[in-house]
Order: sequence, then C-alpha cells, then structure tokens
Amino acid sequence: MAKFDFKCTSCEYVQEEILKISERDSAKIACTKCGKPSKYKFTPTNFYMHFRGDGWPSKTIREKSYRKQRNEVMSRRQADHVAKPELQPNFNGMKTGSWSDAQAMAHDAGKNAETYTPLIQKERAGKVKPKTMKKVG
Ligand SMILES: [Zn+2]
Repeated sequence: MAKFDFKCTSCEYVQEEILKISERDSAKIACTKCGKPSKYKFTPTNFYMHFRGDGWPSKTIREKSYRKQRNEVMSRRQADHVAKPELQPNFNGMKTGSWSDAQAMAHDAGKNAETYTPLIQKERAGKVKPKTMKKVG
C-alpha cells in the first residue's frame, strides 16, 4: 500500500488515497469536493515511494533508526548487567547466607576455601557502616 495524490479533473482539488500500486492507474477516485473523477497525479513524493518499494519510506526509515537505537541501548544495558553481576553468596551454586558460610561449606567439602576470603573481606567491609560504628563505639 502507498499514498498517492489524486487530482480532480474538474476543480483540480488534490486528495490523498491509500492504494496498492497495482490499483493506482485503474482506481476510480471521485473528488471529495465536487464528485467528479480524480486522476493520479505524479509527484516527487510518489516517485520516491515507488522506487523505495514499500510505500512508507520515511516511516520505515524512522522505525529502523528507532529500532537500531533501542537495540544499542538494550545491548549496552545487557553489557552492564554482564559486567557487574551481583554475585550472591553461594557454594557450588548453592545459596548461602553469607560468604563466610560458603567458605565453611567449601572447607567441609575439602575444596579450596581460600578463594572465598576476598569475598568475605568485601562482605565485612560493606557491612561496616558509620552508623554501626557509632553504636559499637
Ligand atoms: Zn473536484
């Protein structure tokens, strides 16, 4: 479907009609003003549409650039998500209350518990907040 300009053969009023390209030349369009037959009027806009193929070039281009923009935002968000995963305390994928628990479980399982040490230190550092320190002191 495409938008075409039709010009009245009598009063020269121009109206837009949405038609299939194949219907364009045979379409019987009546002037909305005087009711006389209107004929397809060639315009540069029409020309552009014919050779772009789908009839709605500006809309299609806008949608494409919108989609492209949105995809870029989405993939950037995804990259952020991947770059900063919020690692929950776990041992072998099993959730634990804290990294100390995870380390204890690793230790019991005879696994290398050393890898949990930095996580525990981070966990402890994160929990020590100014407010807590006041109460402690
Ligand atoms: Zn007319």
